[in-house]
Amino acid sequence: MHNAAMAEMAQVDPEFNNWTYYKFQIHPDNLHQALDMFHSNGFLGLNLTVPHKVLATQWIKIGESAVKLSGASNTLIRGVDGYKGYNTDLYGLVKALESGFGINLQDQEVILLGAGGAARAAAIACAQAGVKSLTLINRTMSKLDTILESLDQLDEKPNTKTRGINEPVLALSHNPIVINATSLGLKKEDPAPIDLALLPHSTRVFDMIYNPDRTTLLKQAESLGMEVCNGLNMLAYQGERSLKIWTQKNPSSKTMFEAALNGLKQSQ
Ligand code: NAP
Repeated sequence: MHNAAMAEMAQVDPEFNNWTYYKFQIHPDNLHQALDMFHSNGFLGLNLTVPHKVLATQWIKIGESAVKLSGASNTLIRGVDGYKGYNTDLYGLVKALESGFGINLQDQEVILLGAGGAARAAAIACAQAGVKSLTLINRTMSKLDTILESLDQLDEKPNTKTRGINEPVLALSHNPIVINATSLGLKKEDPAPIDLALLPHSTRVFDMIYNPDRTTLLKQAESLGMEVCNGLNMLAYQGERSLKIWTQKNPSSKTMFEAALNGLKQSQ
């Protein structure tokens, strides 16, 4: 999707004909050495995925507070003596909810599933956007402490509760938003992380997972008449923001979304 956006940008500015986005598979044990290697070979920027986006924070300069609060950096840009890190997942989620449901997060009731890197970033994004309340749910409840500690560092934090994954999920408002930031659903046969049955039909359900395009959670939501959105637009928006950081231009999130969708279709 980055190469599709850069090809489009090259029509206006031929310099981007010289830019290419590559994929590398690096063992976590080799990440530090790989970052040095990318830097000495002139790589302008890098995206990192799990678990590298957490690991890398010990070797990079922090480019924005979101990296410190989320403990993760998915976007690195080259500096003179190393890389500086940003986290575009927060932007990606906020924009995905805006485009998927036509809403912003301010004053919303959010039920957030998960306690890994994606959930932590989502919790910070929700708090910074001014949600009314945040219910944090995870299989291993003790792991929610890291998210609570991050939220504690904010000047203003939402009314926050934690719940076990098997406790019934109820909502206070008529149209809460459920965000799945667990990896449960990546396999087609995975069950839904929670039962949505007690939530109102006007609940909106966002799943960060985009492959499969309908997880069991989204299927249950649809069967209950709820509005749903998968994580492909989040992927495109976080990618658009990364490319903007590297190029200082405005890449097209639509082009990136379509390229990602085509790539997924071809891989199936
Ligand atoms: P992670 O750090 O590995 O966290 C995994 C989370 O899933 C933990 O909360 C874990 O709970 C939970 N989980 C795993 N297996 C489970 C099971 N069998 N039952 C219940 N809960 C389970 O991963 P991450 O980086 O946060 O990513 C989470 C998901 O978000 C992944 O699917 C990833 O692909 C997706 N994501 C999408 C985008 C996007 O752009 N669309 C961006 C970032 C992430 P425990 O704490 O109990 O282990």
